Amino acid sequence: MVIEGNAGYAGMDNPTVTKGPGGEFASRAQTDAALGKYRTIGGWVEKPLDLQRELEGEVSADVIVVGAGFAGLNAAIALAKQGARVVVIEREFAGFGASGRNAGYLAGGSGAKFDLFLDRIGREQTQKIVDYFEAGVSHVESMLEEHGIDCDYIASGIIRAGIHPMHEANIRNSIRTAAEFGIKMQFLDWAAMRARGIPPAFLFGSYINRGGTLDPGKYVMGLRRAALEAGVMLCENTALLSWTAGRAVEARTPRGIARAPFMVLATNAYTPRLGLLENKVVPMRVSAIETEPLSPEQLAQLDWPNREGIVTAHRKMESHRLTARNTLVITTKRVRYAFGSRTPNIPDNAAYLALVRAFHERFPALNDLAIRACWSGYISVAGDTLPVVGTTGERQNVFYTAGCSGHGVGAQSLVGRLLAEHIRGSEPALLAGLRHRTPSTLPEPLRWCAVNGAMSMLGRLDEKVDRAARAAAACDGRQVFP
Ligand SMILES: Cc1cc2nc3c(=O)[nH]c(=O)nc-3n(C[C@H](O)[C@H](O)[C@H](O)COP(=O)(O)OP(=O)(O)OC[C@H]3O[C@@H](n4cnc5c(N)ncnc54)[C@H](O)[C@@H]3O)c2cc1C
Repeated sequence: MVIEGNAGYAGMDNPTVTKGPGGEFASRAQTDAALGKYRTIGGWVEKPLDLQRELEGEVSADVIVVGAGFAGLNAAIALAKQGARVVVIEREFAGFGASGRNAGYLAGGSGAKFDLFLDRIGREQTQKIVDYFEAGVSHVESMLEEHGIDCDYIASGIIRAGIHPMHEANIRNSIRTAAEFGIKMQFLDWAAMRARGIPPAFLFGSYINRGGTLDPGKYVMGLRRAALEAGVMLCENTALLSWTAGRAVEARTPRGIARAPFMVLATNAYTPRLGLLENKVVPMRVSAIETEPLSPEQLAQLDWPNREGIVTAHRKMESHRLTARNTLVITTKRVRYAFGSRTPNIPDNAAYLALVRAFHERFPALNDLAIRACWSGYISVAGDTLPVVGTTGERQNVFYTAGCSGHGVGAQSLVGRLLAEHIRGSEPALLAGLRHRTPSTLPEPLRWCAVNGAMSMLGRLDEKVDRAARAAAACDGRQVFP
């Protein structure tokens, strides 16, 4: 197994045993076993049995779409529905990127990091960005309905939880700021959280009754089916190598050439390595673990009936959710940037260990539950955390979309449809609302130092909260604050 960076027990108090409030519960053997469950393609999808043929020879279309994730497939479906001939070029298979690897939270504007862009773009445009994220939720819900995609979506809403009183001010502030932009969130105190059956490590939180969780693998494979049914020519195992953009765009792949008046680069975190947006977005590796299914007894004991998706108020959040197969999926906690905007498809063992520890600390009663899978994927993040959508080329006929900062289930799905509408001649207001100046990133090696330095600093701040939560729990023998 390839080990990247510090794959040891980084940030842990004891190198051989992970301690929890109830004593020693995660042995070296347990964590080593977890690391053995790495999956190169994430935990939700398998390589399709009907892999579509590689592009060979020359093909003409109305639009070339590169990348078959949420953005590319939504664009392709919308274009094909309007009668356009669409060829999709996908390096691996549909859903190989972040779309097949994410946590499956369908969240709206509540996930926006207002503090990072409000001053920069002002209130009026912030409202447009919030409206865009909110519209992403409705768009996905309508796609599921329209295309009969069963992806175990539950409109449970989402809770942003505090694991220590140190998180409370931040949660209350975010409720206030969100309200200014029309997003209604409710503060859940200790009693309200318990009334919902939220596991007691999550002390309090904000609840938004919008969106929820889905199985992203089933969603992206449902989009793939819908695209094929709509007549889209999907070329899997076909990497875009280079392109030229004049009156027509010519896209070159290892064994073929596609030509069309327009091209959509829906390659997100992989875009900088294609020679575009290198100084605008940084690919960040985000990781996930999934447990084995809970037994009926464990589920009954957990008693989390509405299965709200939970994210924590850490600076680098944790997300904890139940799946339809009764496993727990836990993500994020540790986020890293690879030098030169590379996106190697390799494990991040330090992240998996941090996630195993977070799982054990938030769910101490489930510490015997084995880990079924660990995986990582790439999101792209702009300096202001806002979406990066625009055009390039002599004739401005190459469209790109990236930088959704880990909120792409709704937003990247929607942007695909909006780009399709734009190409067909309309100017959707939600798309126009995204127009802004993205700050430039630093050149290497300063970028690597700055990004990972900032991530380490945020990690240290989070660790301070985690340590305080552990100490409080150890002090009174509980994982809770009444
Ligand atoms: C662990 C994790 C958890 C996340 N959790 C959430 C969540 O809960 N909620 C949420 O909203 N968002 C979440 N995200 C983010 C979300 O998954 C992404 O924002 C979204 O999937 C991006 O979709 P996309 O279509 O833009 O890009 P991708 O899905 O990454 O698709 C890009 C595609 O381009 C292809 N490609 C790349 N280079 C080439 C080339 N040269 N030629 C041809 N094809 C190419 C890739 O193979 C890939 O299939 C998470 C991400 C990760 C990694």
